[in-house]
Amino acid sequence: MVERQLRRRGIHDERVLAAMAEVPRELFVPEDQRRRAYRDGALRIGEGQTISQPWIVACMCQLLELRGDETVLEVGTGSGYAAAVLSRLCAQVVTIERYKSLADVAAAPLAELGYDNIEVRVGDGARGASDRAPFDGISVTATARDEPPQALLDQLAPGAALVCPVARRRREYLMRFRDGEEEAVASVRFVPLVSDEQ
Ligand code: SAH
Repeated sequence: MVERQLRRRGIHDERVLAAMAEVPRELFVPEDQRRRAYRDGALRIGEGQTISQPWIVACMCQLLELRGDETVLEVGTGSGYAAAVLSRLCAQVVTIERYKSLADVAAAPLAELGYDNIEVRVGDGARGASDRAPFDGISVTATARDEPPQALLDQLAPGAALVCPVARRRREYLMRFRDGEEEAVASVRFVPLVSDEQ
């Protein structure tokens, strides 16, 4: 997976590649899908939601340009896999999921692996986590309409990046927002961000 799906397709941050090699993706996939865990695609995880394709997870992590001492917010815990990868790249991860059922399932492998620098919360992640802000990076793994939620932009530390899929004119792009600038990185497909704030 690391060589074929990631390095060859532009993932060059060695810390990200090491984290992707370290985290056992099969633990975050439902049992009936385990033999497909390392496939080059997304997989369903329940509640109509998905675990993202490995390349997308690596790409989003690389875009945050983490060094190891940061606090990072993830919106959309899903399976917990991306939170697990992030937790190998920074000091603290706060991850928020709107379905309690998914948050509960995600917490199990994280505990089993002893990844104790991740706080899993249930709620509307579009509101962020003001009690833990500012964040040195924010990763949103569900698609926002037109713009990322303002509350999340407000919770970014100066110089920190927010990575988020955004739907504009019926297209969806993975975008990075930093210091008031935005950059479209790739054409993607995620599940929608569901929030009263949107
Ligand atoms: N990062 C995940 C992929 C998650 S798919 C992984 O590695 O598996 C997107 C997730 O975002 C879904 O679980 C969905 O329930 C959640 N979601 C959608 N809108 C949300 C919101 N407003 N707040 C928190 N979670 C949300």
